[in-house]
Amino acid sequence: KVPIITVDGPSGAGKGTLSCMLAEAYKWHFLDSGAIYRVLSVAALHHDISFSDTAGLTPLASGLDVTFSVTEAGNRIILEGEDVTDDIRSEEVGDAASQIASIPLVREALLRRQRAFRELPGLVADGRDMGTVVFPDANVKIFLIASAEIRAERRYQQLKALGRDVKISRLLSDIQARDDRDRNRKTAPLIAAKDAFVLDSSDLNIKQVFEKAKNYADS
Ligand code: C5P
Repeated sequence: KVPIITVDGPSGAGKGTLSCMLAEAYKWHFLDSGAIYRVLSVAALHHDISFSDTAGLTPLASGLDVTFSVTEAGNRIILEGEDVTDDIRSEEVGDAASQIASIPLVREALLRRQRAFRELPGLVADGRDMGTVVFPDANVKIFLIASAEIRAERRYQQLKALGRDVKISRLLSDIQARDDRDRNRKTAPLIAAKDAFVLDSSDLNIKQVFEKAKNYADS
C-alpha cells in the first residue's frame, strides 16, 4: 500500500510549507487539495456559475479539466488550457473556495480526483479533511494549528513584504470567518482525526515545525 502523510488544519497554520518540506524530504508526491477547491472556484467564475449553485457546480467538479504540472518554472496549474497558478492565490478566490467547499455533492465529486494522487513512492496530502475523509487509512496524520492572532500576524507580514497595505484587524476577522465556515459545515468539518498528532506552531518557526513533524513521522 502506498504510504501517506496527511497534514490538516485551519487556514494559515503553515500546512502548505510543512507539506512541501515533507514531500521534498521523502521525495514523495504532494497533493494541495485546497488548490483543487480554488481551481474549481475559478472555473465557476469562467462559466458564470454561482458559488451556491449545486446543480451547476457538481458536474463542473467531476469533469474539471485541470492539470498539475511540474516544469522548470516550478509547479504550474493549468485549467482548461490556461495557467491559473497565480490567480488562484487571491483572497477572493480563497473565500469562494471556502463557500464552494461547504457543498456536500461538490466534496464528493472531488474525492476520486484527490485519491488519484496516491502513487508510489508515497504522498503528502495537505488540506482540511485528508486524514478524516479522503485518506482515513493514512499511516501518519498531522493536525497543524496556530492561534488566529498568530496566523493573522504571519499573513500581515507576508503581505507587507509584498508591499500590500492591509489592516491586521481585517485579516483577523477574515481568518475567523473562514475558520467558522470550515469548522461548522455539515460535511467534512475541520476537526482533527482521532489518530492525529496535534502540532501547535504558534511559538515555533518553520524549521522547528518541520523537525517535530518529521520526528513524529519517522517514529
Ligand atoms: O487551503 P486553502 O486555503 O488553499 O483552501 C481553500 C479553501 O478550500 C479552504 O478555506 C477550505 O474551505 C477549502 N478546503 C476544504 N477541504 C480541503 C482543502 C480546502 O474544504 N481539503
